[in-house]
Amino acid sequence: MNILISGAGVAGPALAHWLRRHGFNPTIVETAPALRDGGHAVDFRGKAHLSVLRQMGVLDEIRRNQTGMGAMSYVSATGKKISSMPADLFAGDVEILRGDLSRVLFDATDAEYLFGDTITGLAEDAHGVTVTFERAPVRRFDLVIGADGLHSTVRALAFGPETDYVRHLGVHCAAFPLDNYLGLDHTGLAYRPPGKLVAIYSARHNTEARAMFLFGSPPLAYDRRDVMQQKKILAEAFEGVGWETSRALAAMWDAPDFYFDSVAQVRMDRWSRGRVALLGDAAYSPCLLSGMGSGLAVVGAYVLAGELAAAGGDHRVAFPRYEEAMREYAGGAQKSGEGVSRMVVPQGRLMTAFLNQYMRLMPYLPGKQMIADSARRTAEAITLKEYR
Ligand SMILES: Cc1cc2nc3c(=O)[nH]c(=O)nc-3n(C[C@H](O)[C@H](O)[C@H](O)COP(=O)(O)OP(=O)(O)OC[C@H]3O[C@@H](n4cnc5c(N)ncnc54)[C@H](O)[C@@H]3O)c2cc1C
Repeated sequence: MNILISGAGVAGPALAHWLRRHGFNPTIVETAPALRDGGHAVDFRGKAHLSVLRQMGVLDEIRRNQTGMGAMSYVSATGKKISSMPADLFAGDVEILRGDLSRVLFDATDAEYLFGDTITGLAEDAHGVTVTFERAPVRRFDLVIGADGLHSTVRALAFGPETDYVRHLGVHCAAFPLDNYLGLDHTGLAYRPPGKLVAIYSARHNTEARAMFLFGSPPLAYDRRDVMQQKKILAEAFEGVGWETSRALAAMWDAPDFYFDSVAQVRMDRWSRGRVALLGDAAYSPCLLSGMGSGLAVVGAYVLAGELAAAGGDHRVAFPRYEEAMREYAGGAQKSGEGVSRMVVPQGRLMTAFLNQYMRLMPYLPGKQMIADSARRTAEAITLKEYR
């Protein structure tokens, strides 16, 4: 069976890996001209995430590329340390830059890749789907899977407009690389003015640094392909907020990659329609602050490919089983993502002062492990079947 996957992020290559192992023939179409390198560090935690990565044979490579981050310190506008957050309170079992993860998963696939292209039309009949592309000629596939992220084109074509499914959680996020001019050694600094957060942390074993910006805002109207416009939005939002912000923003204009998106979730009643199904952020984004998006994507890929194999390729059986296996699990990650996004960028001076104080005390509080434990419980709340 020929299966077309839209999106070579995390979910797409993970699915292609499993489909190939189960004897299917995957093709991936990716709108970017090459693998996208941007983003922050992403976490995997708990038995389910690690077990899927181990079975894929990529866990060791992910460990070799892990960030190895230590504590994150919160600082005042003048750079004075206010508090320090040990890595084990927030980080998962293994943390890796999203771009590095995407590369490791890409290397683990044996699939046809069509870079720099996108699906423009899907016409389904009893025997398959006729797919039209922006550049490639029309082709037939047995099934089409949308693993094309928060702003999925497959979702728009098969289920309807993004506004019906994407819930903005009141925060926007940006990330880009810069020189490690602060000399950070497997560590990071964060500054939290009201309604905003700026963090700079060392990456790729101190050879570079990453800047992360979060700011509270209503949904913003901008062109997702217009990076310059997004950079201007960020520069305006952070003008004059103090600490290292203006220096980091000065580096932004020449940064080799720039990631900008809203912190948002995808909520859908169903993830498949006929021969088309959705996977990862396209179907159930828990939001990028949840720390669960990549874990959900790899577990979802394992389950979707496994159910297709178990059903002998019959999507009418496999797609509902995939939804049934993943629905509650994804819901748990979304619940936790909603809570985190409310906490990370509090509005108003009072809430910000409270949170800064709480962060200062947290490493010494008796219940400090509760947050890490609760994230782990959410990540482990699925029993994985063995698909042979
Ligand atoms: C550049 C980038 C940086 C990110 N940084 C972070 C981060 O720092 N922290 C975090 O928690 N999450 C980040 N994410 C999201 C995170 O990767 C996902 O939440 C998670 O890994 C689930 O992966 P996914 O494969 O479902 O979606 P994604 O990783 O978003 O991958 C979707 C892929 O589909 C491609 N695509 C989009 N539209 C089309 C189309 N029309 N046709 C073909 N391909 C298309 C995209 O270019 C992308 O490669 C980032 C995503 C991207 C794309």
